[in-house]
Amino acid sequence: MAIGTSMTTAWKREQIQALFELPFNDLLFQAQTVHRAHFKPNEVQVSTLLSIKTGACPEDCKYCPQSARYDTGLEKEQLMEVQQVLKQAERAKSTGATRFCMGAAWRDPKDRDMPKLQAMIQGVRELGLETCMTLGMLNGEKAQALAEAGLDYYNHNLDTSPEYYGDIITTRTYADRLNTIENVRSAGMKVCSGGIVGMGEQAKDRVGLLQQLANMEQPPESVPINMLVKVPGTPMADLDDLDPFEFVRTIAVARILMPTSHVRLSAGREAMSDELQALCFFAGANSIFYGEKLLTTDNPEAEADQQLFARLGIVPEQRSVHQQQLEQEATAVDQAHQALAPEPLFYNAAP
Ligand code: SF4
Repeated sequence: MAIGTSMTTAWKREQIQALFELPFNDLLFQAQTVHRAHFKPNEVQVSTLLSIKTGACPEDCKYCPQSARYDTGLEKEQLMEVQQVLKQAERAKSTGATRFCMGAAWRDPKDRDMPKLQAMIQGVRELGLETCMTLGMLNGEKAQALAEAGLDYYNHNLDTSPEYYGDIITTRTYADRLNTIENVRSAGMKVCSGGIVGMGEQAKDRVGLLQQLANMEQPPESVPINMLVKVPGTPMADLDDLDPFEFVRTIAVARILMPTSHVRLSAGREAMSDELQALCFFAGANSIFYGEKLLTTDNPEAEADQQLFARLGIVPEQRSVHQQQLEQEATAVDQAHQALAPEPLFYNAAP
């Protein structure tokens, strides 16, 4: 049994496999039933992702254009300045995002980076946004320091099953990943952890990934399910496409196994048709990511998402009471802001 798993509630592989093998409509019906028992069925949480340090990563994740080992033409950047990050967070908030995720392409954060990271967390919180970071591996001390700065979520994906993992990454182990997640939990932060499908894995590896996530003593609050984006220059550039129905099945099984987690459609969403995304929402996906392009372009992606939400009658999930309190505190400090009016929604489907 892997680190952090529960002896009493463990899902067996055969049970998970059986869910995957249900007739498609039966699986979606079950997933939608579970979804409605725990969430408002027509709400989707919206997060925004900003890369605060891009490229030149020493790790060898075969799917990743940010690895220094692959020539993907990606421009490398230094860690961003705090003020730049806060400016982008304000823009994200104005589009209705409720969580701001900051990602750095590192093996792990170094001591010298910590003060800047802590200032980013504090600044983003003061804007009334939930904070999330993904910075690579974390030891207990760094996890504690980030938690004390107010970090709400830490993202660290398991990527795939323990068995297939060694084919994808050799520079850190599956146990390293589980240890980081344990450190995040012990520091009192929420966990965002999921994986990537379409990496040439077998069906049993999708089962194995979801088993690991669902059997954690406390499953992740956020479970991103990514479809591989095949970036030229990476070793996975020429893999065959995964059957989109298999992707939808993975979302549906994740929903059934982790009924109270937000299941997030993230990487690969741009390449999906509206119909496929709608099917994913029906299967229980209730969170989406806007990429960093949102922050650097005229935002056509956000417009397309707004239109899709409107066509499906979906509304963005409201911030939690805790988030709203944070915002009120920030507002009280700055009397110049007449922030008594409610925050505009990213999209309001009400007629
Ligand atoms: S650790 Fe993260 S940034 Fe680095 S290569 Fe792996 S996925 Fe990419």
